[in-house]
Amino acid sequence: MTEPLLITPTELRQHHYCPRVVFFERCTPVRRRETVLMTHGREKHQTELLRERRRTLSRYELTEGERRYDLRLTSPALGLTGELDLLIVDGTRAFPVEFKHTSRPPDPGHKLQLCAYALLVEAELDLTCPHGYWHSSRTRQTHTIPFDTRLRNRTRAAIETVRGFILAERCPPPTSQPVKCLECELRNFCGDTL
Ligand code: SF4
Repeated sequence: MTEPLLITPTELRQHHYCPRVVFFERCTPVRRRETVLMTHGREKHQTELLRERRRTLSRYELTEGERRYDLRLTSPALGLTGELDLLIVDGTRAFPVEFKHTSRPPDPGHKLQLCAYALLVEAELDLTCPHGYWHSSRTRQTHTIPFDTRLRNRTRAAIETVRGFILAERCPPPTSQPVKCLECELRNFCGDTL
């Protein structure tokens, strides 16, 4: 029996940034090199997770909750697999938390990523996720992201879209914002963009 195709919440965020990034990773031998900026962001991310273990829950406006770190979750039914930075569990409710080293607020791609983790938590742990948190280690701001019906539907639709072009090995259209291509390390492979 063939294994179901699983995509990651991170790939949903990458797909929102540019659909071709995921296509190159999944359907071609082309791999992105890790830039200095990416390495720096990854190291800051780890530092933030270590600091989080010493903090209270006050930034989440929660008084109680069990923290579960680096939670790996897989749901063949959703077609998703991924590792969540942090899940705070309070009774039957749970709150996924993502950390990012950026000075920008969360964009729609970040919200899709966080909501995908919420869908995984609900499907696999039988908990309810009313909202999640997205924390910037640069600005020290914590944003609350509600998992409303619209975001949930958009997340499910994005999963289907990404799975669809990977299964069909069909190159998706480029980003609609060509300015992103100027600094993209995949530019040499996207002959039709600039
Ligand atoms: S060059 Fe542009 S279209 Fe191609 S992967 Fe990069 S951002 Fe996307």
